[in-house]
Amino acid sequence: MKYVIVTGGVLSGLGKGITVSSIGRLLKCAGFEVTAIKIDPYLNIDAGTMNPYEHGEVFVLDDGGEVDLDLGNYERFLDISVGRDNNITTGKVYKSVIDKERRGKYLGKTVQIIPHITNEIKNRIMDVAERSGTDICLVELGGTVGDIESMPFLEAVRQLSREVGGRQNCIFVHTTLVPVMSVVGEQKTKPTQHSVKVLREIGILPDIIVGRSRKPLEYNIKKKIALFCDVPLEAVISAPDAKSIYQVPLLFHDQGLTEYLLRRMGEEDREVDLTEWKELVSSLLHPEAAVNIGIVGKYTFLADAYMSHSEALAHAGAKTGAKIKIRWLEAEDLEKGKASLDDLDGILVPGGFGIRGIEGKIMASKHARENKIPYLGICLGFQTATMDIARNVMKLKDAHSAEFEEEGIETKNPVICLLPEQKKIKSKGATMRLGLCEVNIRSGTKAHKIYGKEKIEERHRHRYEVNPDYIDRFEKAGWVFSGRDNDTIRIEIGELKGHPFFMAPQFHPEFKSSPTRPAPLYLAFVEAAKKRAKKTNRGEKR
Ligand code: GLN
Repeated sequence: MKYVIVTGGVLSGLGKGITVSSIGRLLKCAGFEVTAIKIDPYLNIDAGTMNPYEHGEVFVLDDGGEVDLDLGNYERFLDISVGRDNNITTGKVYKSVIDKERRGKYLGKTVQIIPHITNEIKNRIMDVAERSGTDICLVELGGTVGDIESMPFLEAVRQLSREVGGRQNCIFVHTTLVPVMSVVGEQKTKPTQHSVKVLREIGILPDIIVGRSRKPLEYNIKKKIALFCDVPLEAVISAPDAKSIYQVPLLFHDQGLTEYLLRRMGEEDREVDLTEWKELVSSLLHPEAAVNIGIVGKYTFLADAYMSHSEALAHAGAKTGAKIKIRWLEAEDLEKGKASLDDLDGILVPGGFGIRGIEGKIMASKHARENKIPYLGICLGFQTATMDIARNVMKLKDAHSAEFEEEGIETKNPVICLLPEQKKIKSKGATMRLGLCEVNIRSGTKAHKIYGKEKIEERHRHRYEVNPDYIDRFEKAGWVFSGRDNDTIRIEIGELKGHPFFMAPQFHPEFKSSPTRPAPLYLAFVEAAKKRAKKTNRGEKR
């Protein structure tokens, strides 16, 4: 087992996750099996209890793990499914050490950060790596070198590098920022020098430096970084702004990163085949027609909050030759008339929690339904579409979701109700209906045509569902439930009769989409939106 450990310097938000994923993809193209671990130095056990403004989107895994969005990048770039243990947090590490202490595991000893916490971290990394059955494990250390929170993790990976048998089995990559002073336009290396200095004080000598900057690093700047940071010139890699994140592996490869990495690992004889990836990037960068998609959410000021949706749309766009132009729409702005749904070829309402913006989401569904605009509603977007149909088609004027009773909503028609098994659950962390569940698709429906089979597996994250008491009435009104759980009462997909494309799953297909395997529902949605763009003549003009 070999390890590639990626640290970050200067500031957060440098796109370390994309660097890790891109290096992983290059290693995969060199014939290795790879897995990836994300370390988050916060005290939460997982990302499930954080709101998107704190942390971006919460990504959901097959095993129901609610994890950092970087694991989504790993899955998309590497075409793998990882598990909840691939996201290590300070909270998980301390909890298990403290639990062990209470069980008497360290009897007689003083339990300390070194060695008990650091051993726990090392064991967790090595355990996930070994269990994955892969050749290489990438480890991304969240946070910035020098933060108090990341110290135990840096110490643990320093020790790990000694234990895994030589430097060719453990490569350290350090990502930094190379800012430009606007007046003189010169790329500055001092922040990089300083963060490498901090890393070395901890005992980690980076093998590769990845410098983020708007433009490619100039030759002289690369040379300066090489000299000051004690790495060969070929190990200084530019990470300039790219049109698409999927271009980054190619940008790295063209600078000789794959060749250098393989040589450092003692694997220089490997062939690297980038054909499929190059084709993918080329279709992403050369679309035939533009398609306007409105995403109606409540964290739209932070695109990271809906990352899997914009990625799944991009994957579908690459496959169908559509350039996806996203218009971010705050649901509350729709309510106040401050935003418009005009000129859209498709409307997507993603998942969410809480009452803020609910009426705006219901308006979006009504608009798409009445104007025959392709609509895709995910999870909460399925529930709000159901509320729209109940109110405006079935004339149950007060129809609402029981989720909002706590927030003062009273209704005689709770068309969305709590899942029965949720009634006894009081605590919040990891207690929803989570992860992969089987869904039965009714034959002869649109969902059946899209998936091409009668049984699918998709990822879930919810507490509420369509109230079984209303199922028959909904179906009579044309809101057909084409996907159901095994017991046939739990509704998984709604599709509207007589509409070109109005589909909404209770599950989250966006979490299983990758550029090489776009999610079927997103693909069908983008195709429908593309058709509409063509019909209204908008697709050609843009
Ligand atoms: N809040 C809704 C529920 O818990 C929807 C959840 C979601 O969109 N992920 O059922």
